[in-house]
Amino acid sequence: MKKWFIASLLTLFVLASVFGSNPATAAGGGSGSQGADQDSDTPKNVIYLIGDGMGVTYNTAYRYYKNGGFSEDMADTEFDHHLVGQQKTHPHDEEENITDSAASATAMATGSKTYNNAIAVDHDLNELETALEVAKASDKSTGLVATSEITHATPASFGAHDESRHNHAEIADDYFDERINDQMKVDVLLGGGIEYFDREDRNLIEEFQNEGYDFVSNAQEMQQSQNSQLLGLFSEGGLPKKWDRTEETPSLENMTQTAIDTLSQDEEGFFLMVEGSQIDWAGHANDIAGAMSEMEDFEAAFAAAIDFAEQDGETLVVATADHNTGGFSLGLDGEYNWNAEPLHEMHRTPEFITEEILETEDIEGTVDAYIDWALTSEEIGALEEALLLPTADRSGEVEGIIKDAVDKRTFTGWTTSGHTGEDVNVYAYGPGKDNFQGLTDNIEHGDFLKSFMAQ
Ligand SMILES: [Zn+2]
Repeated sequence: MKKWFIASLLTLFVLASVFGSNPATAAGGGSGSQGADQDSDTPKNVIYLIGDGMGVTYNTAYRYYKNGGFSEDMADTEFDHHLVGQQKTHPHDEEENITDSAASATAMATGSKTYNNAIAVDHDLNELETALEVAKASDKSTGLVATSEITHATPASFGAHDESRHNHAEIADDYFDERINDQMKVDVLLGGGIEYFDREDRNLIEEFQNEGYDFVSNAQEMQQSQNSQLLGLFSEGGLPKKWDRTEETPSLENMTQTAIDTLSQDEEGFFLMVEGSQIDWAGHANDIAGAMSEMEDFEAAFAAAIDFAEQDGETLVVATADHNTGGFSLGLDGEYNWNAEPLHEMHRTPEFITEEILETEDIEGTVDAYIDWALTSEEIGALEEALLLPTADRSGEVEGIIKDAVDKRTFTGWTTSGHTGEDVNVYAYGPGKDNFQGLTDNIEHGDFLKSFMAQ
């Protein structure tokens, strides 16, 4: 329900009370049910999913990819069923009007625009209260899940405060040190970034364990934990991409399901933020294969959240992006085609294949093992030359040749290694979803989330 509508209902209610008539009749509805409507529009639980860098094109490409590209009816993705609108993402920054992840996540977490790099602080470095903090102050359980370091800009903007997104150690400290009503702020933390918790100056893993948290470092341990508070760190930095993972590393869906199972034990409700972090990383790297790997991961997490919400009936699920990355296009150089087939014939990302080539120096064997289509002799020749470069230049050159080969075969275009400023899609399901309809501003998301979590 839109705020103005609630406000006008309240006005009518007050007027009707003053004049002694039935407010439902005065409102013209006659059903007398606006109180119930209001309740049903306020979710008890919120699962807010952010596909980092997931501009509109990623969602369209993923639909093509799932359908093989040439399906007549082009069946919907999990996202498509739940599209409700778009959001504006511009930051409030004197020098840049295209947002970074920090300013955008801060807007969605707190309801305030800020400068690029800011982690839930304003221009004067005042701390901005986040939806996660409001939830904890309302005695709800809280969680953060990401495939990047859990201290990365997006999760940090919900659970920490810092003048710069680059202060990972300080952000990890905030997760432990900043208490709400003497309680730990974030009950479930799942992602990467061990290096920021197990440090020379401080061992936060032990400190969390001393507060009663289970610490887990692989998928099996995570599944076994029955604890209501959980710290799971599965890699030094970001997690491997979905296509490159072994059984040791949980998927985003596994982590999301674990967080939901854990947090939903709380009868007061919960707030969970889930980030598909590396859609953005693939975008920065202009890597369409990596992007589809991470879209698969993110879609499965979204589907798990929707499944829970359908059973539960009191949970709002929102999925959106913080900005677009890479200026990615379906179609290249005048070609009226985007060919997803070569992507289905790849079994690892270019990043992984590059590491293998550098390690084995066996170009054709490695390419044969992971890619079902053949490179041209020119492409093989270029890879051979790249292996003769100084060590520091090899990796970028090899990966670039493989990514170019993929782009040429799929007709994928890129315009930048950075972010672009288009509006992004918003998907929603459950009580409160009407607020996200049409064109919203990212600060409205923060306002809605905070008002839901305050109840
Ligand atoms: Zn981002």
